[in-house]
Amino acid sequence: MNCGKHACCMEDDSGSNSREILFMQPVFKQSVWGGSRLSEEWGYETPSSHTGECWAVSAHPHGDCIVDGGLFNKKHLSELWKNAPELFGNAHGDRFPLLVKIIDAESDLSIQVHPDDKYAAENEDGSLGKTECWYVLDVSEGAELIIGHNAGSRAELADMIKNGQWEKLLRHVPVGKGDFIQINPGTVHAIKGGIEVLETQQNSDITYRVYDYGRLSDGAPRSLQLEKSLDVITVPAVNADEIVLRAEKIAKSSEKNKLNLLISCDYYRVWRLETDGYAELEQVYPFLIMSVIDGEGFINDISIKKGDHFILPNGFGNVRLKGRMKIIASSINEK
Ligand code: ZN
Repeated sequence: MNCGKHACCMEDDSGSNSREILFMQPVFKQSVWGGSRLSEEWGYETPSSHTGECWAVSAHPHGDCIVDGGLFNKKHLSELWKNAPELFGNAHGDRFPLLVKIIDAESDLSIQVHPDDKYAAENEDGSLGKTECWYVLDVSEGAELIIGHNAGSRAELADMIKNGQWEKLLRHVPVGKGDFIQINPGTVHAIKGGIEVLETQQNSDITYRVYDYGRLSDGAPRSLQLEKSLDVITVPAVNADEIVLRAEKIAKSSEKNKLNLLISCDYYRVWRLETDGYAELEQVYPFLIMSVIDGEGFINDISIKKGDHFILPNGFGNVRLKGRMKIIASSINEK
C-alpha cells in the first residue's frame, strides 16, 4: 500500500519503525487582521488574502485536522486520539492536548488574555484554559508585541481600562525573528501587525478580548469580555525579560542536529531543531509533533519541506533527518 504523496507506507529498511508518520492537512482561518503570507511564502492553498491562521496540528472542534495519506488517510486527529490512543502513548485526557498553528498578522490582533484551567472549567463549560507560546517566524521592521501591563494593583488596572488609558497601561516589547515567548494564563498580550509566529498551545480557544483599538468589524465593534478579563489578569504583570527568550541566546545555547529545549511547562515541551546535513534522534516521547519552518530534506527517506507538519507516534523509534531544515517540535509534559 502506498499513499502516494508522502510514501509514508514504504517499509523502513532498518525495520525499527513499525509506525507511520502522521502528516497533517492544515485548516485555515480567515480574519480581518490576516494577510497573504501563508499562501505566498508557505505555498498553502488558502481561502483568501486575509488568512490569519493555519491550524497545522489540531483536533479542536473549530478546526480538526485530517491525516494526509497512509493507513489513517482522511481520519480526523480527534478520531485517532479517541480510537487509536496507542499512537499517542495512551496519554491521559479526553481530547488531544495540543494545538499548533501559524499566525500571520498583517494588522494588529486585539489585546487579549486567557484563563487558566480552573477558571475555564468553572466559567467556560468545562473548557481547558490556555497556556501558549510563540516562536517568531518573521517580523517587519520595528515590529512589537504587547506583553503584560503597567498597573500596580487590580484597582488601578480596572481604572485604567475603564478610562481607556491604553498607551499607559500596555507594555510594548520589540521582537525579532527567532525570539521565543511563553504566554501564561493571565498575561495580557497581543500580536501586532507584521509579525508571524508558530504558536504551540493548549487545545482551547477561550480568549477574553480586553481592547480592540475601537475597530469595527462588519460595521460593529467586536465584543469585549472585560469582567472576565479583570478576573484573570495577573497583577502585577511578570517582567517581559522573564518570558522572552531572545534569538541570540537560543543560538548560543543550541547545538545543531539536536533537539534544543525552548520551554518545559505543565502542558508542553517545545524544542527547536536545526539540521545541517544529518541528524539522528530517538522518538522517546508519548508522541512528537514536528513543524518544518524552513528548508527541505528527508525524514527516514520521506521528503519534507517548509510548511509540512506531522506527528511521530509513540514507539516510532529512530528518526533520521537529512538536509538543511529548521524544525519546531513539541510534545506533552508527562507528570
Ligand atoms: Zn493568546
